[in-house]
Amino acid sequence: MTTALTLDGSSRYHLDAACRALDGARLSTRGAVVEEDSDTLGQTPCFLCAATAGTAWYVTEQTIAELYEMIGPAKYHTSVDPGTGRLAVDGLTIPAHGDAPRAVARFGDTVRRHPDGGYRVHPAVGHASTP
Ligand SMILES: [Zn+2]
Repeated sequence: MTTALTLDGSSRYHLDAACRALDGARLSTRGAVVEEDSDTLGQTPCFLCAATAGTAWYVTEQTIAELYEMIGPAKYHTSVDPGTGRLAVDGLTIPAHGDAPRAVARFGDTVRRHPDGGYRVHPAVGHASTP
């Protein structure tokens, strides 16, 4: 049995109490961390501390906070929501690193970690590949 850490209302579980994604989620939701048996959770493992072997991640509102922590110097990307007229987060900006140019990963795109340790954005159909 492994003790997993989760937040009320979250679909993710963490194995490291010091996980940055867990800490970020705790601060943004002000939720309490609950310890559970991970064998019975039926939840999604956190990219940073529980599913570290992954190399490709789909960018969604549920995964963006973990990707932000994992990629390091990434920033949240915003644009005006035509429905509300207000700025809203719509993805992550990944700065140029190694051979990879600066790129924006929007909701629906896929971020892949390459063997060189860099991250590349694979745009969803219909998305532009440049910011
Ligand atoms: Zn975690």
